[in-house]
Amino acid sequence: MKPKIWLSSPHMGGKEIDFINDAFNSNWIAPLGPNVNGFEEDISNYLKEDTHVACLSSGTAAIHLGLIQLGVQNGDEVICQSKTFSASANPIVYQGATPVFVDSEKNTWNISSEQLALAIKDRLAKGKKPKAIVTVHLYGMPYDVDKIHAISKKYNIPILEDSAEALGSNYKGQKCGTFGDIAVLSFNGNKIITTSGGGALVSKTKKFRDKAIFLATQARDKAVEYHHSQIGYNYRMSNITAGIGRGQMKVLDDHVKKRRSIFELYTNSFEDIEEIKFLKEPDGYFSNRWLTCITLPSIEIREGLRLFLEKENIESRPLWKPMHLQPIFKDAPRYINGISEDLFNKGLCLPSGSNLSEIDLDRVISNIKKYFKSN
Ligand SMILES: *Cc1c(COP(=O)(O)O)cnc(C)c1O
Repeated sequence: MKPKIWLSSPHMGGKEIDFINDAFNSNWIAPLGPNVNGFEEDISNYLKEDTHVACLSSGTAAIHLGLIQLGVQNGDEVICQSKTFSASANPIVYQGATPVFVDSEKNTWNISSEQLALAIKDRLAKGKKPKAIVTVHLYGMPYDVDKIHAISKKYNIPILEDSAEALGSNYKGQKCGTFGDIAVLSFNGNKIITTSGGGALVSKTKKFRDKAIFLATQARDKAVEYHHSQIGYNYRMSNITAGIGRGQMKVLDDHVKKRRSIFELYTNSFEDIEEIKFLKEPDGYFSNRWLTCITLPSIEIREGLRLFLEKENIESRPLWKPMHLQPIFKDAPRYINGISEDLFNKGLCLPSGSNLSEIDLDRVISNIKKYFKSN
């Protein structure tokens, strides 16, 4: 059996271990310490726009603390992009609120401004104003920031920007992760940089960052004795984990370059296969190309190709299954145009890790060519 080729696997730069050694040498083996502070500064310097950053145990924890701070409570409604990973939507339910799913647009595969406006008008007519909008830059492609944020302003509904897949992407020159009232990053094992597990809450409003740290460390009031007037969480990032993050920040731009070059390579290699289509960057959009995704003519061809690659020990994966099609959300309100379901049926993510070798990429490409020659 040939060695496994993964969709996206961790890629260390080499400096991570030095920061971990610092933590050991100074005995900062805790969910606080110099690496945590340093990693937060590194991220803020990278994103610019006067952002404040709280490093947390996961992106999901960051979304949860974000929603709490936007006032989401039991019985509320929160609008959420339907085409996403379940972690965008689950924290809405942790708060006892109901997700209202909104479908995608063709240009970016992200939340459609038309469907969003329709959804807000209809929820208002039904007597309930949504508390927040969860937007996602899927696979690193920014959503239509101008249009979506204009709607948010018009109706005065805050945006929680899920930028878990889009560190290194930008929209009209401004980095993803700096647009929402609150934004979220993830450093899970398969993301563009990883700390094994971890995430961050980002905001231009410092009080959101400070309150996130307060809530993430069990909401201890300022008092010598342990005194609590609010429910807290254990969501802070560890100083060891943050050491990995500090090392990874040094290679983030290289990872973006490599992922984008993999996208280019696939695009050029499959030029002559008319069944394979790619999502182009609209003017002003810059995607980190976290995963290269292709769309195919039908679900049969998508599954045929996926199984063919699997036999060759090459991982590929259908695009995220929309949340409105998940059994767990079968009763959730939805505003649907069919685009996200169509993408789910026809789309496939290809191996895209920044640590893929030329030999690995050749193997993926020649096998895909082989599949289309023989089918
Ligand atoms: C990975 C991911 C998350 C969750 O981040 P974790 O760090 O794994 O909790 C949230 N949203 C999207 C779109 C993701 O891809």
